Amino acid sequence: MALAQNMPVLSRLVSSSVAIANHAGGIIREILKKGELGIVEKENARDLQTEADRAAQRCIISSLSKCFPKITIIGEEGEEETQVTSGKIFDPDLMPAVNVKCPSNLSSLEEEEIVVWVDPLDGTAEFTQAFECLQSGHQGVCKTLETTCASLLDHVTVLIGIAYSGKAVGGIIHQPYFNYQNPGAELGRTVWGVVGGDVGGMPLVSPPEGKLIVTTTRSHSSSTVNDAISAVSPTEVLRVGGAGHKVMLLLEGKAHLYVFASPGCKKWDTCAPQAVLEAAGGVLTDIKGTPIPYYSTAPHRNSTGVLASAAGIPHDEYVNKIPQHVKDNLKA
Ligand code: AMP
Ligand code: MG
Ligand code: MG
Repeated sequence: MALAQNMPVLSRLVSSSVAIANHAGGIIREILKKGELGIVEKENARDLQTEADRAAQRCIISSLSKCFPKITIIGEEGEEETQVTSGKIFDPDLMPAVNVKCPSNLSSLEEEEIVVWVDPLDGTAEFTQAFECLQSGHQGVCKTLETTCASLLDHVTVLIGIAYSGKAVGGIIHQPYFNYQNPGAELGRTVWGVVGGDVGGMPLVSPPEGKLIVTTTRSHSSSTVNDAISAVSPTEVLRVGGAGHKVMLLLEGKAHLYVFASPGCKKWDTCAPQAVLEAAGGVLTDIKGTPIPYYSTAPHRNSTGVLASAAGIPHDEYVNKIPQHVKDNLKA
Protein backbone atom coordinates (compact mmCIF):
# COMPACT_ATOMS: atom_id res chain seq x y z
CA MET A 1 0.00 0.00 0.00
CA ALA A 2 1.67 3.23 -1.15
CA LEU A 3 1.74 6.10 1.33
CA ALA A 4 -0.05 9.24 0.16
CA GLN A 5 2.50 11.89 -0.80
CA ASN A 6 0.32 14.59 0.77
CA MET A 7 0.77 13.08 4.24
CA PRO A 8 3.21 14.94 6.53
CA VAL A 9 6.81 13.87 5.83
CA LEU A 10 7.24 12.75 9.45
CA SER A 11 4.21 10.42 9.25
CA ARG A 12 5.50 8.87 6.01
CA LEU A 13 9.03 8.58 7.40
CA VAL A 14 7.93 6.81 10.61
CA SER A 15 5.61 4.50 8.71
CA SER A 16 8.28 3.59 6.11
CA SER A 17 10.90 3.16 8.82
CA VAL A 18 8.68 0.63 10.63
CA ALA A 19 8.56 -1.46 7.44
CA ILE A 20 12.29 -1.02 6.76
CA ALA A 21 13.25 -1.93 10.36
CA ASN A 22 11.12 -5.09 10.08
CA HIS A 23 12.91 -6.02 6.89
CA ALA A 24 16.33 -5.34 8.46
CA GLY A 25 15.32 -7.64 11.35
CA GLY A 26 14.76 -10.41 8.79
CA ILE A 27 18.25 -9.82 7.37
CA ILE A 28 19.75 -10.12 10.88
CA ARG A 29 17.93 -13.40 11.56
CA GLU A 30 19.06 -14.84 8.19
CA ILE A 31 22.71 -14.04 8.89
CA LEU A 32 22.59 -15.62 12.35
CA LYS A 33 20.91 -18.70 10.87
CA LYS A 34 23.60 -19.02 8.18
CA GLY A 35 26.24 -18.72 10.89
CA GLU A 36 28.62 -16.51 8.91
CA LEU A 37 28.96 -13.54 11.24
CA GLY A 38 32.21 -12.04 9.87
CA ILE A 39 33.05 -10.43 13.24
CA VAL A 40 35.52 -7.50 13.24
CA GLU A 41 36.70 -5.36 16.17
CA LYS A 42 36.01 -1.62 15.94
CA GLU A 43 37.48 0.57 18.74
CA ASN A 44 38.42 -2.42 20.92
CA ALA A 45 37.58 -6.05 21.71
CA ARG A 46 34.36 -4.98 23.47
CA ASP A 47 33.21 -3.00 20.41
CA LEU A 48 32.33 -5.46 17.64
CA GLN A 49 30.74 -5.34 14.21
CA THR A 50 29.23 -8.32 12.35
CA GLU A 51 27.93 -8.91 8.83
CA ALA A 52 24.44 -8.53 10.34
CA ASP A 53 25.29 -4.95 11.47
CA ARG A 54 26.73 -4.16 8.01
CA ALA A 55 23.97 -5.74 5.92
CA ALA A 56 21.17 -4.26 8.04
CA GLN A 57 22.71 -0.78 7.73
CA ARG A 58 23.14 -1.12 3.93
CA CYS A 59 19.46 -2.02 3.63
CA ILE A 60 18.19 0.72 5.97
CA ILE A 61 20.26 3.55 4.45
CA SER A 62 19.67 2.56 0.83
CA SER A 63 15.92 2.14 1.36
CA LEU A 64 15.45 5.37 3.34
CA SER A 65 17.53 7.40 0.88
CA LYS A 66 15.50 6.07 -2.04
CA CYS A 67 12.21 7.15 -0.43
CA PHE A 68 13.50 10.35 1.21
CA PRO A 69 16.46 11.56 -0.87
CA LYS A 70 16.91 14.88 0.96
CA ILE A 71 17.13 13.73 4.57
CA THR A 72 20.52 13.45 6.30
CA ILE A 73 21.17 9.90 7.50
CA ILE A 74 23.93 9.00 9.95
CA GLY A 75 24.58 5.29 10.49
CA GLU A 76 26.75 3.60 13.08
CA GLU A 77 28.72 1.44 10.68
CA GLY A 78 31.51 2.44 8.30
CA GLU A 79 31.63 4.46 5.08
CA GLU A 80 31.08 1.41 2.90
CA GLU A 81 27.77 0.62 4.61
CA THR A 82 26.70 4.24 4.14
CA GLN A 83 26.91 4.03 0.33
CA VAL A 84 23.55 3.72 -1.36
CA THR A 85 23.61 0.35 -3.15
CA SER A 86 20.72 -0.27 -5.50
CA GLY A 87 20.76 -4.07 -4.95
CA LYS A 88 19.97 -3.61 -1.25
CA ILE A 89 16.90 -1.41 -1.53
CA PHE A 90 13.71 -2.57 0.13
CA ASP A 91 10.47 -0.93 -0.92
CA PRO A 92 8.57 -0.08 2.30
CA ASP A 93 5.35 0.24 0.28
CA LEU A 94 5.44 -3.56 -0.03
CA MET A 95 4.58 -3.92 3.67
CA PRO A 96 1.42 -2.76 5.40
CA ALA A 97 1.95 0.80 6.58
CA VAL A 98 1.19 1.92 10.12
CA ASN A 99 -1.05 4.93 10.49
CA VAL A 100 1.04 7.65 12.13
CA LYS A 101 -0.69 10.84 13.24
CA CYS A 102 1.55 13.87 13.29
CA PRO A 103 1.19 16.57 15.97
CA SER A 104 0.60 20.03 14.49
CA ASN A 105 4.05 21.37 15.49
CA LEU A 106 5.73 18.64 13.39
CA SER A 107 3.31 18.45 10.47
CA SER A 108 5.15 20.76 8.10
CA LEU A 109 8.74 19.49 8.43
CA GLU A 110 10.74 19.38 5.19
CA GLU A 111 13.03 16.47 4.35
CA GLU A 112 16.04 18.82 4.38
CA GLU A 113 15.41 19.64 8.06
CA ILE A 114 15.45 16.00 9.22
CA VAL A 115 18.40 14.00 10.55
CA VAL A 116 18.02 10.23 10.94
CA TRP A 117 20.31 8.33 13.34
CA VAL A 118 20.55 4.61 12.50
CA ASP A 119 21.82 1.82 14.73
CA PRO A 120 21.27 -1.19 12.46
CA LEU A 121 21.91 -3.67 15.29
CA ASP A 122 22.04 -2.51 18.89
CA GLY A 123 23.35 -5.12 21.34
CA THR A 124 26.05 -6.60 19.08
CA ALA A 125 28.02 -7.92 22.09
CA GLU A 126 25.00 -9.97 23.18
CA PHE A 127 24.24 -11.03 19.57
CA THR A 128 27.75 -12.49 19.16
CA GLN A 129 27.60 -14.20 22.58
CA ALA A 130 24.25 -15.76 21.74
CA PHE A 131 25.75 -16.96 18.44
CA GLU A 132 28.76 -18.49 20.20
CA CYS A 133 26.48 -20.29 22.60
CA LEU A 134 24.12 -21.59 19.91
CA GLN A 135 27.13 -22.75 17.81
CA SER A 136 28.50 -24.79 20.66
CA GLY A 137 25.15 -26.48 21.14
CA HIS A 138 24.99 -24.68 24.51
CA GLN A 139 27.80 -26.96 25.77
CA GLY A 140 29.20 -25.26 28.84
CA VAL A 141 28.86 -21.81 27.31
CA CYS A 142 25.52 -20.97 28.91
CA LYS A 143 27.03 -21.70 32.31
CA THR A 144 29.76 -19.12 31.75
CA LEU A 145 27.18 -16.43 31.03
CA GLU A 146 24.99 -15.08 33.79
CA THR A 147 21.95 -15.69 31.63
CA THR A 148 21.10 -18.21 28.94
CA CYS A 149 22.17 -17.55 25.40
CA ALA A 150 18.58 -17.75 24.31
CA SER A 151 17.48 -14.71 26.29
CA LEU A 152 20.49 -12.72 25.02
CA LEU A 153 18.83 -12.52 21.61
CA ASP A 154 16.08 -10.45 23.25
CA HIS A 155 18.68 -7.70 23.79
CA VAL A 156 19.08 -7.12 20.04
CA THR A 157 17.21 -4.21 18.45
CA VAL A 158 17.21 -2.21 15.20
CA LEU A 159 17.02 1.54 15.92
CA ILE A 160 15.91 4.32 13.57
CA GLY A 161 15.78 7.71 15.30
CA ILE A 162 14.39 10.87 13.70
CA ALA A 163 15.61 14.31 14.80
CA TYR A 164 14.48 17.82 13.93
CA SER A 165 16.01 21.02 15.24
CA GLY A 166 18.43 18.99 17.40
CA LYS A 167 15.63 17.08 19.17
CA ALA A 168 14.56 13.44 18.95
CA VAL A 169 11.03 13.65 17.51
CA GLY A 170 10.33 10.18 16.17
CA GLY A 171 11.67 6.70 16.78
CA ILE A 172 11.41 3.07 15.77
CA ILE A 173 12.65 0.18 17.94
CA HIS A 174 12.43 -3.24 16.27
CA GLN A 175 13.14 -6.44 18.24
CA PRO A 176 13.86 -9.14 15.64
CA TYR A 177 13.82 -11.98 18.19
CA PHE A 178 10.74 -11.03 20.20
CA ASN A 179 8.72 -14.23 20.76
CA TYR A 180 11.32 -16.52 19.30
CA GLN A 181 11.12 -18.78 22.36
CA ASN A 182 7.37 -18.86 21.90
CA PRO A 183 6.77 -21.17 18.90
CA GLY A 184 3.67 -20.34 16.92
CA ALA A 185 3.61 -16.68 18.04
CA GLU A 186 4.52 -13.93 15.57
CA LEU A 187 8.30 -13.44 15.50
CA GLY A 188 9.61 -9.90 16.10
CA ARG A 189 7.86 -6.68 17.04
CA THR A 190 8.27 -3.03 16.16
CA VAL A 191 7.48 -0.18 18.49
CA TRP A 192 7.29 3.39 17.21
CA GLY A 193 6.56 6.79 18.67
CA VAL A 194 6.23 10.46 17.78
CA VAL A 195 6.93 12.98 20.54
CA GLY A 196 3.66 14.80 21.31
CA GLY A 197 1.82 12.14 19.29
CA ASP A 198 1.23 8.39 19.50
CA VAL A 199 3.12 5.26 20.47
CA GLY A 200 2.29 2.05 18.61
CA GLY A 201 3.34 -1.58 18.43
CA MET A 202 3.13 -2.60 22.10
CA PRO A 203 1.03 -2.09 25.21
CA LEU A 204 2.58 0.44 27.62
CA VAL A 205 2.86 -0.74 31.23
CA SER A 206 3.78 1.26 34.37
CA PRO A 207 6.61 -0.14 36.51
CA PRO A 208 5.61 -1.55 39.92
CA GLU A 209 5.09 0.82 42.84
CA GLY A 210 7.18 0.42 45.99
CA LYS A 211 10.29 -0.70 44.08
CA LEU A 212 13.09 0.96 42.14
CA ILE A 213 14.34 -1.30 39.37
CA VAL A 214 17.37 0.10 37.56
CA THR A 215 18.58 -1.24 34.24
CA THR A 216 22.14 -0.72 33.03
CA THR A 217 24.87 -2.16 30.80
CA ARG A 218 26.02 -5.76 31.16
CA SER A 219 29.07 -5.49 28.91
CA HIS A 220 30.40 -1.91 29.39
CA SER A 221 30.42 -1.43 33.15
CA SER A 222 32.85 0.71 35.18
CA SER A 223 33.25 2.08 38.70
CA THR A 224 31.43 5.33 37.81
CA VAL A 225 28.56 3.32 36.27
CA ASN A 226 28.28 1.41 39.56
CA ASP A 227 28.66 4.53 41.75
CA ALA A 228 25.77 6.20 39.92
CA ILE A 229 23.58 3.11 40.36
CA SER A 230 24.32 2.80 44.10
CA ALA A 231 23.48 6.48 44.60
CA VAL A 232 19.86 6.02 43.49
CA SER A 233 19.39 3.08 45.97
CA PRO A 234 17.78 0.53 43.65
CA THR A 235 15.79 -2.43 44.96
CA GLU A 236 16.99 -4.43 41.93
CA VAL A 237 19.52 -3.97 39.09
CA LEU A 238 18.95 -5.51 35.65
CA ARG A 239 22.23 -5.70 33.70
CA VAL A 240 21.17 -6.20 30.09
CA GLY A 241 22.52 -5.34 26.64
CA GLY A 242 21.53 -2.57 24.25
CA ALA A 243 20.17 0.95 24.71
CA GLY A 244 17.06 -0.01 22.71
CA HIS A 245 16.37 -3.04 24.89
CA LYS A 246 16.83 -1.10 28.13
CA VAL A 247 14.32 1.54 27.02
CA MET A 248 11.93 -1.29 26.07
CA LEU A 249 12.15 -2.45 29.71
CA LEU A 250 11.06 1.07 30.80
CA LEU A 251 8.12 0.95 28.35
CA GLU A 252 7.11 -2.56 29.45
CA GLY A 253 7.04 -1.67 33.15
CA LYS A 254 10.01 -3.95 33.92
CA ALA A 255 12.31 -1.12 35.08
CA HIS A 256 11.92 2.41 36.44
CA LEU A 257 15.31 3.90 35.47
CA TYR A 258 18.09 3.36 32.92
CA VAL A 259 21.38 4.59 34.40
CA PHE A 260 24.62 4.69 32.36
CA ALA A 261 27.31 7.00 33.73
CA SER A 262 29.89 6.35 31.01
CA PRO A 263 30.80 7.97 27.67
CA GLY A 264 30.37 4.83 25.46
CA CYS A 265 26.82 5.32 24.13
CA LYS A 266 26.34 7.17 20.80
CA LYS A 267 23.58 9.30 19.28
CA TRP A 268 22.33 6.37 17.17
CA ASP A 269 21.88 4.39 20.43
CA THR A 270 19.69 7.00 22.11
CA CYS A 271 17.79 8.94 19.41
CA ALA A 272 15.12 6.34 18.59
CA PRO A 273 14.70 5.08 22.18
CA GLN A 274 14.45 8.67 23.46
CA ALA A 275 11.72 9.59 20.98
CA VAL A 276 9.65 6.48 21.75
CA LEU A 277 10.12 6.91 25.51
CA GLU A 278 9.20 10.61 25.43
CA ALA A 279 6.16 9.88 23.24
CA ALA A 280 5.14 7.48 26.05
CA GLY A 281 5.61 10.15 28.75
CA GLY A 282 9.13 9.24 29.93
CA VAL A 283 12.34 11.29 29.84
CA LEU A 284 15.88 10.62 28.52
CA THR A 285 18.76 13.04 29.13
CA ASP A 286 22.46 12.79 29.88
CA ILE A 287 23.46 11.86 33.44
CA LYS A 288 23.44 15.57 34.44
CA GLY A 289 19.86 16.10 33.25
CA THR A 290 20.94 18.05 30.14
CA PRO A 291 19.15 17.34 26.82
CA ILE A 292 21.19 15.36 24.28
CA PRO A 293 21.57 17.32 20.98
CA TYR A 294 20.85 15.42 17.74
CA TYR A 295 22.04 17.95 15.12
CA SER A 296 23.92 16.32 12.23
CA THR A 297 27.02 18.18 13.43
CA ALA A 298 26.74 16.94 17.06
CA PRO A 299 29.55 14.65 18.25
CA HIS A 300 28.52 11.02 17.85
CA ARG A 301 29.44 10.11 21.41
CA ASN A 302 27.12 10.82 24.37
CA SER A 303 30.16 11.69 26.50
CA THR A 304 28.09 12.74 29.49
CA GLY A 305 26.24 9.43 29.85
CA VAL A 306 22.55 8.55 29.81
CA LEU A 307 19.75 8.71 32.38
CA ALA A 308 16.25 7.66 31.36
CA SER A 309 13.04 7.39 33.39
CA ALA A 310 9.79 5.58 32.72
CA ALA A 311 6.58 7.64 32.54
CA GLY A 312 5.62 8.99 35.96
CA ILE A 313 9.11 8.68 37.50
CA PRO A 314 10.51 12.00 38.83
CA HIS A 315 13.53 12.33 36.52
CA ASP A 316 14.97 15.48 38.11
CA GLU A 317 14.99 13.90 41.57
CA TYR A 318 17.21 11.11 40.25
CA VAL A 319 19.48 13.55 38.38
CA ASN A 320 20.03 15.23 41.76
CA LYS A 321 20.97 11.91 43.39
CA ILE A 322 23.82 11.21 40.93
CA PRO A 323 27.04 12.00 42.87
CA GLN A 324 28.96 15.13 41.86
CA HIS A 325 32.19 13.17 41.30
CA VAL A 326 30.37 11.00 38.74
CA LYS A 327 29.04 14.11 36.96
CA ASP A 328 32.48 15.78 37.04
CA ASN A 329 34.07 12.66 35.62
CA LEU A 330 31.90 12.83 32.49
CA LYS A 331 33.00 15.85 30.45
CA ALA A 332 31.30 17.06 27.27
P1 AMP B 1 25.25 -1.42 26.52
O1 AMP B 1 24.32 -0.84 27.52
O2 AMP B 1 26.61 -1.77 27.09
O3 AMP B 1 24.66 -2.56 25.77
O4 AMP B 1 25.53 -0.25 25.51
C1 AMP B 1 24.52 0.41 24.78
C2 AMP B 1 25.10 0.89 23.46
O5 AMP B 1 26.21 1.73 23.71
C3 AMP B 1 25.63 -0.24 22.59
O6 AMP B 1 25.45 0.09 21.24
C4 AMP B 1 27.10 -0.28 22.89
O7 AMP B 1 27.83 -0.76 21.81
C5 AMP B 1 27.40 1.21 23.15
N1 AMP B 1 28.47 1.33 24.15
C6 AMP B 1 28.34 1.54 25.47
N2 AMP B 1 29.56 1.60 26.08
C7 AMP B 1 30.47 1.40 25.10
C8 AMP B 1 31.88 1.34 25.07
N3 AMP B 1 32.61 1.49 26.19
N4 AMP B 1 32.50 1.13 23.88
C9 AMP B 1 31.76 0.98 22.76
N5 AMP B 1 30.41 1.02 22.73
C10 AMP B 1 29.78 1.23 23.87
MG1 MG C 1 24.15 0.42 19.70
MG1 MG D 1 24.97 -1.17 16.67
